[in-house]
Amino acid sequence: MKNLLFLAFFVAVTLRAEAADYPVKPVPFTNVRFTRGFWQQRQATNSVVTVPFALQQCETSLRLNNFDLAAETMRRRAAGETNFQNQPASHYPFDDSDVYKAIEGASFDLSICPDPALQQKLDGFITRIAAAQEPDGYLYTWRTMHPDSPAHPWINQQRWLNDPQSSHELYSLGHLYEAGVAHAAATGETNLLNTCFKSAELIWHDFGDGKTRMPPGHEVIEMGLCKLYRVTGDPRYLDLAKLFLESRGYGGSEYSQNHIPVVDQREAVGHAVRANYLYSGMADVTALSGDPRYLPALNAIWSNVVGCKLHLTGGCGALAKGEAYGANYELPNNCYNETCAAVAFLFWNERMFLLTGDAKYMDVFERTLYNGFLSGVSLSGDRFFYPNTLEYDGKAKNNAGYAGRAPWFGCACCPPNLMRMLASLGGYVYAAQVTNLFVNLYATSEAWVDIAGQHVKLSQATDYPWDGGIKISVTPKQPATFTLCLRIPGWVRGEPLPSDLYRYADATPTKWLVRVNGKKVQADLINGYVQINREWKTGDTVTLSLPMPVRRVLGNEKIAATRGLVALERGPVVYCFEGVDNDKSAADLVLPDNAKIEAHTEEILNGIVTLDIKGAQRVGRNADGALTKKNVMARAIPYQVWDNRGLSPMRVWLARDASRISTDPAK
Ligand SMILES: [Zn+2]
Repeated sequence: MKNLLFLAFFVAVTLRAEAADYPVKPVPFTNVRFTRGFWQQRQATNSVVTVPFALQQCETSLRLNNFDLAAETMRRRAAGETNFQNQPASHYPFDDSDVYKAIEGASFDLSICPDPALQQKLDGFITRIAAAQEPDGYLYTWRTMHPDSPAHPWINQQRWLNDPQSSHELYSLGHLYEAGVAHAAATGETNLLNTCFKSAELIWHDFGDGKTRMPPGHEVIEMGLCKLYRVTGDPRYLDLAKLFLESRGYGGSEYSQNHIPVVDQREAVGHAVRANYLYSGMADVTALSGDPRYLPALNAIWSNVVGCKLHLTGGCGALAKGEAYGANYELPNNCYNETCAAVAFLFWNERMFLLTGDAKYMDVFERTLYNGFLSGVSLSGDRFFYPNTLEYDGKAKNNAGYAGRAPWFGCACCPPNLMRMLASLGGYVYAAQVTNLFVNLYATSEAWVDIAGQHVKLSQATDYPWDGGIKISVTPKQPATFTLCLRIPGWVRGEPLPSDLYRYADATPTKWLVRVNGKKVQADLINGYVQINREWKTGDTVTLSLPMPVRRVLGNEKIAATRGLVALERGPVVYCFEGVDNDKSAADLVLPDNAKIEAHTEEILNGIVTLDIKGAQRVGRNADGALTKKNVMARAIPYQVWDNRGLSPMRVWLARDASRISTDPAK
């Protein structure tokens, strides 16, 4: 039976292959292995520490227990205890979704490395989830365990009725569908996918005729339904995703992007995770349906974020209030930038790339990946940031009530979100379109790619992101003619972002160099890629050299928070100053334009490049209250690894001269 289901699942996938989808196809993460270096280390920690830790948290935080409580209520009521109900065991009505995301991340791991014990553990979770599903497919533990009255003010007595405002019924199902697809792909088992199908039948029954306008209060089900559509070819799932998009904009709030119809939206507003999931879902529906009406909105909103609403770290959703995008140029350094918003922004940028083949989206992806996303998890893999601020005083409890990185959260959306992205990161390295093979990320890895009718092995060797030397060995089964497209990042070309939101003090492009079998390649960039078309044979090697000078970055004058300030970057990595390296304080440091900066490779923090600055200044006040300054050595470390050595003040942006110091040193 198992084999038959496995076969049916993959036949469906194969049948779908010819239907409309993104013109550029990602090479699946199952075909890409990080074999050494930066991402191999991070992914191994994710697999060995974060995945088991998150699964355990699903149990100890009693999120899984909610499924048992729902099942118990159904069972005892069916046996005649008609008034029986249970109280939820955890904090929030959307807690089911964290379990689904953890299963999805663990499933990605299973896809890469079969592990019978892990699979068995997931099967145990899935059995408990299925037992909590009502006979007609409804799955939302907080109502099922407590059916006679709402168990939380966010929930309405009637199903779905509060979803546009607060209940998160459809949000949880979106994550369920994503988990079901990932689990089936990893294991060939359809136990979780069947729960998804049963649920989606109910969604079709309740909303499929389009008569009930239902804008999901927290988007994600659009992406989940698109994934169900991809694996089954059942057009109802795509229709539902589209119906949910089209139901927005009839008298709702900006907070959930429900203020105007999605096709008319031009600015990123409201809760940033919701927003970025919505835009990702719009891209999916565009690709799968061929309906171009969403494109003007997607292009305008993306340009708005990248032009006016993105922090240097690639983090977005600047405001703690409403976990929301701010106004244009409202980019405070004491910002929110939820980890989930970064994950969702990565999803959206990859989808925009898959629609267009334009490297600018992967440039932005890379900035978020190495900075505002990766900062969300500790090097140990079991401590997390919910918000990702660009400045910290060393003591504020700004991390969902914690000072510094926390082991888990009452609202635990971020850790499993990080986990599923890290587990599947290999899927963002390569992509293919007809005879173009795109190389989007540089990492020591091996990959197996089908291009131009040939099976090709690609091996990358590099110390990226610390060094811009990359060697790619191309090994086709038979000699094959195709175009290798290497992304030349914006930072190489003197552009922090494809906008004027930030600029380098010295924007001179560096001289990148590509050689094939030792011979220099002269080629113009097309859509951000150097394109090498030739007949590739076993033994061919491509070397790419991307110089990584330290860059001083300045903010657009319209950003009040960065006026008179400067930040540092090297390669794709944004730097910060942490008290632990700088005499316990960062707020009183000044980085004059003439200070000398040297990059050093260091063993600390799993091996990083530090920036050591001669001619920095520390500002204070003398007894008369006058400003004083003294020359000091200062050290910057990659922002991605801050707060791995205990609580300490931190700054990404420093004043360029003492008069612009942001904190009064007397205080
Ligand atoms: Zn989150």
